[in-house]
Amino acid sequence: MPGQTSATIDVPSCRVPVWLRCDVLVCGGGCAGVTAAVAAARRGCRVTLLERWPTVGGMATNGLVNAWHRSDREKVVINGLVEEAAERAARHGWIRRDRNFPHAHETHWFDPEGMRLVWQRLLDDAGVTTVCHLAAGEPLVTDRRLVGVLCDTAQGRRALLADIVIDATGDGTVAAKAGVPWQMGRADDGRVQGMTLTFSLRGIDEDAVARVPHEKVHQVIDAMAEQARDGRLPPFNDGNMRGSFTYWGAPNHMIWNVCPVAGNPLDELELSRLNARAHEYVVQYLDFLRTHMPGMAHAEINQTAFALGVRESRRIEAGTQLTANMVLGAAKSAEAVGHGVWMVDIHDPEGSGHTTFSDPGEHHRLRLGTSYHIPLGMCLHPDWPNLGVVGRCAWSTHQAHASVRVQTHCMVMGQGVGTAAAMALAGGVPMRAVQLPLLQQELRRDGVYLEDVPKPA
Ligand SMILES: Cc1cc2nc3c(=O)[nH]c(=O)nc-3n(C[C@H](O)[C@H](O)[C@H](O)COP(=O)(O)OP(=O)(O)OC[C@H]3O[C@@H](n4cnc5c(N)ncnc54)[C@H](O)[C@@H]3O)c2cc1C
Repeated sequence: MPGQTSATIDVPSCRVPVWLRCDVLVCGGGCAGVTAAVAAARRGCRVTLLERWPTVGGMATNGLVNAWHRSDREKVVINGLVEEAAERAARHGWIRRDRNFPHAHETHWFDPEGMRLVWQRLLDDAGVTTVCHLAAGEPLVTDRRLVGVLCDTAQGRRALLADIVIDATGDGTVAAKAGVPWQMGRADDGRVQGMTLTFSLRGIDEDAVARVPHEKVHQVIDAMAEQARDGRLPPFNDGNMRGSFTYWGAPNHMIWNVCPVAGNPLDELELSRLNARAHEYVVQYLDFLRTHMPGMAHAEINQTAFALGVRESRRIEAGTQLTANMVLGAAKSAEAVGHGVWMVDIHDPEGSGHTTFSDPGEHHRLRLGTSYHIPLGMCLHPDWPNLGVVGRCAWSTHQAHASVRVQTHCMVMGQGVGTAAAMALAGGVPMRAVQLPLLQQELRRDGVYLEDVPKPA
């Protein structure tokens, strides 16, 4: 790459003003970070939430990824702060709940604009200090204790200090920079799941689209797929593109999961290139659909996601690693903080757009009516007593990550770790030393569904 070198320079040490001091510092305001912050603040902690983007919500709001999965296809098994946010959104008509048991998981489609407000209000009501427009920078580490982070504010470099730090950055940036070991991608080549730019459309003649027979929809998308195979159109996720039109009425005309690119999301140069390419793809798909899909002649791009949708990057080591066997075998754990239901849903790391979601057969799904436990230990490293890692960067294998990365599961982790953080501070113990039955009792009291928990060994 032109301009890149292997040279180094010394940066002079300096004295940095301490800007904020709190009990719990949550770095990253996606669904996992918001729930962690709310859970800790409701238990009396002084919590600061740092978010590098202008608003909270992460992929769910700024990435326009607006679907929640909460059931084992027989019953809802994810509640707590997920249900509370859903209820708040429902009061304004910002959420639609689809249930088609036993064929599908109960899915909530929400308005990303609405969810942004729901989460900000939850944070405000809980008394969390939310600081947006500011990225957590270098971690401050003393004897394997994270004492806070440095931030480059508009006024200059500042330190934020905390008794407990929760890394909810998605990429595990804080934990990795502090020196906690991590892994990334497939075991054989380190490649991560494909990324996707979500977008929505306007200017569609909805009645005309609704009248298009399914066979015609499939003909159009077959032709689109043929052009993609010939290289005249970029690759796309065939199944999701068909779904977008077959089940027309996706809230806000959101088209998601169709626009794949592949590469390393931790390389900003590459990410910039991939993001620019994804924007080109969207225009190419739209040109095709305008010409070929009835009712789409005047369609325009309404919105593209604020950022390219990254599904997978670092997975930060911790005491318990979630594996595909635990997921698919619906394993139960004495350190459970909630349940997970989603399948092993891997979007092709080569960027073809294929996802195991649409594979025939049941090998990648949990059995009907079963769920696995999300263990607290996947968020806590035994050697880092005051660090929690929540959301898609928590410790799992590449395959298990493809299940536990979904938003409701990340929120289960967030609520569990936020609650454990508050109990640890109240008891003057590390998070790993919190009594699990007491933690689980508190979580149940806060609405979390927690069944079949084995007794601690
Ligand atoms: C295209 C796509 C489709 C998906 N489909 C679904 C689906 O159908 N259902 C589902 O449930 N899930 C889906 N997912 C997965 C899901 O959206 C994510 O895995 C989930 O949102 C992860 O939550 P998180 O809170 O861990 O991370 P994120 O939502 O990524 O949030 C992390 C936050 O941390 C912030 N941040 C990062 N670094 C810093 C820093 N240094 N300082 C401060 N802030 C920082 C980011 O700006 C971001 O706001 C999809 C993902 C993608 C990309």
